[in-house]
Amino acid sequence: MSAGSRKKRASRPWNNPAALRDLGPVRAPDSDELALAGYEVRRVGPGRAHKDYACPACGNVVPSGEGHVVVWPRGDSDLRRHWHRHCWRIEVRNSAPAE
Ligand SMILES: [Zn+2]
Repeated sequence: MSAGSRKKRASRPWNNPAALRDLGPVRAPDSDELALAGYEVRRVGPGRAHKDYACPACGNVVPSGEGHVVVWPRGDSDLRRHWHRHCWRIEVRNSAPAE
């Protein structure tokens, strides 16, 4: 028998658009990753970012046209802030209870 005849390539999702489509639900954990207890988090896509914002974490501009997240304490949407996605991810990671 020849081990080389087992072609794995087709089973790799990145080479197989049909398999990638099947992975659709896998996107959900990505938003869980951005979730933080007590906060509402909304993703803003690049096409919906029409203004520059100041990121509260790093103080730099979140330029219009860049995908980012809007975050506010649950029930207090007046305190909405626009964060770089990476800055918010770091915040979530730092806020997560240590295991
Ligand atoms: Zn930032």
